[in-house]
Amino acid sequence: PLRASRETGRPPVSVSFEFFPPKNEEMEKTLWASVGRLAPLSPSFVSVTYGAGGSTRERTHATVERLARETALSPAAHLTCVAATRDEVDEVVRAYKAAGINHIVALRGDPVTGVGTRYEPHPDGYAFASDLVAGIKRIGDFEVSVSAYPEKHPESASLDADIDVLKAKVDAGATRAITQFFFENDVYFRYLDKVRARGIDIPILPGILPVTNFKQASNFATRTGASVPAWLLRRFEGLDDDPETRKLIAAAVAAEQVTDLVDRGVTDIHFYTLNRADLVYAICHLLGLRPQADGVPQAVAV
Ligand code: FAD
Repeated sequence: PLRASRETGRPPVSVSFEFFPPKNEEMEKTLWASVGRLAPLSPSFVSVTYGAGGSTRERTHATVERLARETALSPAAHLTCVAATRDEVDEVVRAYKAAGINHIVALRGDPVTGVGTRYEPHPDGYAFASDLVAGIKRIGDFEVSVSAYPEKHPESASLDADIDVLKAKVDAGATRAITQFFFENDVYFRYLDKVRARGIDIPILPGILPVTNFKQASNFATRTGASVPAWLLRRFEGLDDDPETRKLIAAAVAAEQVTDLVDRGVTDIHFYTLNRADLVYAICHLLGLRPQADGVPQAVAV
């Protein structure tokens, strides 16, 4: 696959990075060290997640504001509407507007009673992500990104019904979708075909989760409805107590996945960094991205 991308002379790949707000001082150090390492790769944006049920409201805001203040990066704030009134959510949106943050990743959020339990909209809240998108657009001229599920959201009756949900979010004003992570690229491309056939033309960024901890990734996958192929399980077999080898395997797996995406025409890739830089940095390097001191995006042909 690397050879193919070298020969096609495709345009450089744009990347974006997702972080989560740190819980303590040590995690804070890890996050900012990772941001420092990844920032010179000039991502098109970086996003900061919002804890389940809005539990990181202040920390998300503080992290996004610090990114805007201290780096040349374009930060995006994740925001969910679960378990909150419209007024509470609107207040968060207005605070971002006042702080000059103009990109929000708008999500419904998981039920506060736990993933897999029945979701109940707050009686005075936005019910679904599409309502939240519309609410955000009423408050300001934000760029709004939303989620997309190549293997459908676990609560959706079918993939077609799920794509209707995406369509509603686009009609409400979303201009970019980021997918749930997946491991089989064919799943993504089949989904993309269906999305385009439905008349949705916004960019659908593949969300890539570099897997270093296979057990943790499998747990995430079970919760989110993403399938874990048998070949992936086999690659990590017997390595539970061997983190060094796991890391090398992880790099190989992720490199294979992203180079195949690029060879098949993908130009924008979103990385779930889990606040760690090394693996993502190496994969970006493979994609031809090189650090830029002046913050001007640039890539070399690979
Ligand atoms: P929606 O797009 O609203 O859809 C969820 C389900 O609701 C659909 O499957 C459908 O069954 C139903 N539905 C939607 N609209 C309607 C309607 N009009 N009528 C009836 N039913 C409807 N979670 C966090 O807590 N914080 C984060 O920062 C966060 N970031 C994420 C980033 C990405 C890229 C992704 C993919 C997910 C993220 N999540 C986050 C997880 C997300 O909150 C959950 O997956 C949640 O269960 C669904 O949110 P959504 O915005 O995708 O929902």
